[in-house]
Amino acid sequence: MRQLILQPAGSVESRGHYDDTIFHPVALDRISKFVTAAEFDHLKNLYPAGKAHVWGVTSGRNTVKWQKINKNDVAVFAGGMKIFSSGEVKYKVRNKSLALNLWGEDDEGRTWEFIYFLDHIRQRDIPYSALNKHLGYEHNAVIQGFNVIPWEKCTTFLAYLDSGKVATAASSHTLAPTIETSTSAGIPDSPLEDDGECTLQTEVSSEYSGCEDFERLIKDLDPAKPLDATAVVQIRKEQVFLRKFLFGSRGTGICGICGKEFPVDFLVAAHIKRRADCSIEEKLDYKNNVMPICKMGCDDLFEKGYISILNGKIIRCPDKLLTLAMKAYVDILHNGSCLYATPSNKGYFQWHADNRLRR
Ligand SMILES: [Zn+2]
Repeated sequence: MRQLILQPAGSVESRGHYDDTIFHPVALDRISKFVTAAEFDHLKNLYPAGKAHVWGVTSGRNTVKWQKINKNDVAVFAGGMKIFSSGEVKYKVRNKSLALNLWGEDDEGRTWEFIYFLDHIRQRDIPYSALNKHLGYEHNAVIQGFNVIPWEKCTTFLAYLDSGKVATAASSHTLAPTIETSTSAGIPDSPLEDDGECTLQTEVSSEYSGCEDFERLIKDLDPAKPLDATAVVQIRKEQVFLRKFLFGSRGTGICGICGKEFPVDFLVAAHIKRRADCSIEEKLDYKNNVMPICKMGCDDLFEKGYISILNGKIIRCPDKLLTLAMKAYVDILHNGSCLYATPSNKGYFQWHADNRLRR
């Protein structure tokens, strides 16, 4: 279920950010040197036109709220007592160096490192009073800070947005909300068509190398032979390669299923289609068939088929026995959007749903 992200962007600083990275989407080439090869590859799939709308929030009180953001959540940008645009979340990363490059730092030396990427940016002209009515706020309430509104509280407002009565395509550039003093600056993102060009063997980002070694490694491993000591070492090397691809030199990463941030020690480089069932080509297609999954529950649930991903949504297996402790965890995931699902890896997720979700 989609959540609503309230993103104040009325201050002079925020308006500048909005203009720089939402209204004018950012070229992926500029982003490439700050992200891992896996992240860059994912962004290329999400934004085949090569530009992305990007926004970010600072750490502190925003951190916990940012952690709740899921793919397809709707962000609304507000300033001058109205909502002046909206967009759909497509991806998120915590990345200080990218934030510094895009927006610099604020007066207190902080940057907007909790980043989210958007698509389908639409110009809006919705007074706060309309939002307040739908959310059950006081008539004259003002959006004070970045916030994520749970789905059950924003369904009527999202339906209102979807109705189109208040939406106009962002083709005309007349966004000029009045400047207001806001405590929270945000960063913009841009909409692009994600029609899912599959780019299996494209180049990886410049900071990354080792593809040829990986290819040799995979081809040398004879899937017909039982694993001997050499093969075990090779598989370990494969894991090192995949982790480097996914995490680079990062200390933390985002779980592809629950969307939460973890130290990389708590993340595995997991194959979406079970490795043992992959052809050589599929093993080499790590850019689409591997994703980070957390050890805090998601890895085992996915691996053992308690949950799967269907059409980008997390679904639970109806046949598996869940204890109360597990049910609490799975209930939160169920029906959520998988941050990692793209048209390019749809086939692998489909395999998982077809083969692993059943007993
Ligand atoms: Zn997780």
